[in-house]
Parts: sequence; structure tokens; C-alpha cells
Amino acid sequence: MTILDGKLVASETRKEIKAEAERLKAKTGRQPGLCVILVGDDPASAIYVRNKTKACEENGIRSFFFGLDKNATYDEVAAKITEANLNDEIDGIIVQLPLPSHLDTASLLDLIDPLKDVDGCHFVTKGKLWTGRDAIKACTPYGITKILDYYNIPLEGKTAVVVGRSNLVGKPLAQLLMDRNCTVTICHSKTTDLKSVTKTADIVCMATGKRGLLTADMVKEGAVVIDVGISRAENGKICGDVDFDNVKDKCSYITPVPGGVGPMTVTMLLYNTIEAFKCRLGEIK
Ligand code: NDP
Repeated sequence: MTILDGKLVASETRKEIKAEAERLKAKTGRQPGLCVILVGDDPASAIYVRNKTKACEENGIRSFFFGLDKNATYDEVAAKITEANLNDEIDGIIVQLPLPSHLDTASLLDLIDPLKDVDGCHFVTKGKLWTGRDAIKACTPYGITKILDYYNIPLEGKTAVVVGRSNLVGKPLAQLLMDRNCTVTICHSKTTDLKSVTKTADIVCMATGKRGLLTADMVKEGAVVIDVGISRAENGKICGDVDFDNVKDKCSYITPVPGGVGPMTVTMLLYNTIEAFKCRLGEIK
């Protein structure tokens, strides 16, 4: 069994990002720019935003921060998104989720210029992905494929199950695995016999946020197990959706939590920002 080291893959990918950021700055006279829009003062969101800002600084990307009060109106948030859309020094925009409940998240995300949609959340970006056109890929699923590729894990012809069908993780992950010629099944909270599906899969991806949902009896010998979930145990410890201690010995490969998928998510945000800059320059489609 090999533990898939997301920190290692993230650090290797960040070297590539930094080198590209330096090359682009030398070519154009400016750094790639990422704008984070935060509404409100949720402490977890504030930590995520700080991590993103720090990651930008360490990797040659200029960070822009637009903060709004928790009572900001739809129009005020929309105005900030428009400002970021129009700013030529900004290549990527991310609206930190969740937004306060009085705001319509989907329609605000749809205001982001699809060319700057580095989180892959705009419906145009998703539509392109589903129809097999070049598109920015959602960060967490994209990071998972990077980990699988780094360890040369074959995907073609394999059966994969994705447990979770969110727009952010489950659906785009299923699409990326299908694009790599996996035969994909998507499960969710209304799936009647989850074990019968996970038990036969070559690759099991868990993205539910339900701590320890995947137990050893649900996994076949030699499976690849990817754990996206993040939740906290009563003692404060961060846990995933997989009963890691008992599942690991049945697997060929498994991601830990923390230290697996998590470090790749911010990394792929930076990666997508570089890609968005290159698209705007016409270096890539
Ligand atoms: P959502 O809450 O949007 O989606 C959860 C999905 O899990 C839903 O589709 C839900 O089904 C399904 N689900 C819930 N309970 C069960 C169950 N008992 N059996 C089968 N399916 C179930 O979460 P996200 O997709 O946004 O995130 C999933 C997890 O990944 C969370 O823990 C989140 O914190 C984590 N995460 C981690 C990231 C990282 O970088 N490591 C990045 C993003 C998220 P239904 O649709 O029927 O409700």
C-alpha cells in the first residue's frame, strides 16, 4: 500500500507554477493576478483566504483582496465582481464560499467572467467541461487527477465510483475521470446500497463530509481510495470520509486526511490562474 502524498505533489506543482509566473512576468512586465472576494467574517473562510493570499505571495502571483461586510447587498457584491472582471491585472477571480444566506450564490458566481473563473464554478465553464471542450477545471477534482498522474496510477478502463454529487467536487470529478476513460458511477445520500457499488470499484473517491463513511468491508482488495472529505472529530482532529486505519491495508493507494487532496486544492487555484493568464495572452486555447 502506498500513501498518496498530496503535500509532495503540491510542492512539485508549485515549483512549476512559480517558474511559469516568473517567465510570464519577464515576458509581460506583470505578475499573474488572483482576486479573492470575501463577504462577511466567517473565521474558517478568513483562514482559507489567508492561506490563498500566502500561497500567491510564495509563488509569484499577485493577490488582490476585496472584502465586504456580512450585510453587503447583492448589488454591492456584484459590483466587486464586475470591478475584478474589468481589472486587467486580475487573471483569476474566486468568491469565497459559503456566502451569507441572504445572497443568491449561483447568480453571483455567474457574474464572474468565465475567462477568469479559476474555481471552475461558472455554468459556462461547467458546460464546456461536460461537452468536452477546453475549460478551466474545478480545483479539487483537477488536483486529484494530478495526484493520480504523479503516481502513474492507470485510469483507462478502470471502474470508478464517486460518492458525492456536488457541483464543486462530485460532478466535476466524475467528469474528469470519465474523460480519462474510467467507467464512472456517482453515488449520493439516496443511493440505497452504497457498499454494493464501492465494493466492486477499482477507484473509490469519497466526497461527502461524513466522517468514516467508507469502512474496510466496502472496499475491494487493491482498490485506489481517494478521500476528499474534511470533518472534525469530537477531539478536534481533522478527519476524512474514510476509516483510514482499517481501509488502508486493503488498498493499493490511499490519500490521507490531512495531507492528501487538501494541499492540492489551493495549488490548483494558482495553477488555474497561470493558465487563465496564458489564455488571455493567447499562449494556450
Ligand atoms: P456537499 O455537502 O455539497 O455534498 C456532499 C455530497 O455527499 C452530496 O452529494 C450528498 O448527497 C453526499 N452524501 C452525504 N451523505 C451521504 C451518504 N451517507 N452516502 C452517500 N452520499 C452522501 O459537499 P462538497 O462536495 O462541497 O464537499 C464534500 C466534502 O469534501 C466536505 O467534507 C468538504 O469539506 C470537503 N472538501 C474538501 C476539499 C479539499 O480540498 N480537500 C475541497 C472541497 C470540499 P446528496 O446530493 O443526496 O445530498
